[in-house]
Amino acid sequence: MAIRIKKDGTEQSGLVDDNVVQPFRLEKSGVRGRMVRLGSVLADIMQQHDYPPPVSALLSEVLTLCLLLSSMLKYEGVFSLQIKGDGAIRTLVADVTSKGEVRAYAGFDAAAVKKLAKRKKDIAHHYYHLLGKGYMAFTVDHGGTDHRYQGIVELKGESIVDAAQHYFTQSEQIKTSFRLAVHPQDRHWRAGGIMIQQMPDEEAGKTDIEPDIEDWTRAAMLLSTCSEGEILSPVLHSADVLYRLFHEEGVRIYSPTHIRFKCRCTRDRVIDILRTIPRPEIEEICAKEGRVMIKCEFCSEEYGFSTPELDDVYQERKP
Ligand SMILES: [Zn+2]
Repeated sequence: MAIRIKKDGTEQSGLVDDNVVQPFRLEKSGVRGRMVRLGSVLADIMQQHDYPPPVSALLSEVLTLCLLLSSMLKYEGVFSLQIKGDGAIRTLVADVTSKGEVRAYAGFDAAAVKKLAKRKKDIAHHYYHLLGKGYMAFTVDHGGTDHRYQGIVELKGESIVDAAQHYFTQSEQIKTSFRLAVHPQDRHWRAGGIMIQQMPDEEAGKTDIEPDIEDWTRAAMLLSTCSEGEILSPVLHSADVLYRLFHEEGVRIYSPTHIRFKCRCTRDRVIDILRTIPRPEIEEICAKEGRVMIKCEFCSEEYGFSTPELDDVYQERKP
């Protein structure tokens, strides 16, 4: 159910709406949008991984973008956002289930990241130095073998947001604009973002033949005035940020979705991975180390298998 905001935009006290995706709509300009706020959920994910700051910063952006993009779609299953590069960072992955369960991880060359960070202090703001050439891909996995939707775009521009923006301009031809902000506060990471998108005229209830460029330009300009402080503020409610920005556009705020961390790894899934490796290779590790340990990249949970347990792993394999 939609509620029209009547608040006067004044700041509220106390910690407010962290770990949410807040949908909204701008009635006057025919624009739909989402605001994401990540606090403790992001801090927990970053603490589990303990990545170097430039890697954490980029992964936080990827997770925020993943939530913004997924919340624009109607789906049951898992939405993933993956970035692959040929630089010091090879992989950045975030995924979210339709229930709001998120996780994320990064694959990188620690020595190369350290070297780059030494040379350039604000390296996280120069993502192309860290990622090199590569691509960004979105996938929706509905659980079965079919219905996999994938969008893919080359890494272009100055930031991850630029690459996403490029995707919508090139592939979808839908006017889309973003603001993202990431910052460590008291050693705890916070991140947030706002995405707006022009609605198709039918959906916006418009009868004009031409889409209204002026309406879009006005909304995008208002979004560009949003400061990082407003996006990240732990005391300013997201509804108030949206009201401050868009009150003249007739902003309507809908019920938010709450986000939590949950990894989907299980011992059975790890067994499936183990089975793809020839048994003699695993036995060799067991002989040397006592057992083979497999670590989940998303949550750092470790699964161990000793030689006697390998019988169960490999016997279950279908002929
Ligand atoms: Zn896991």
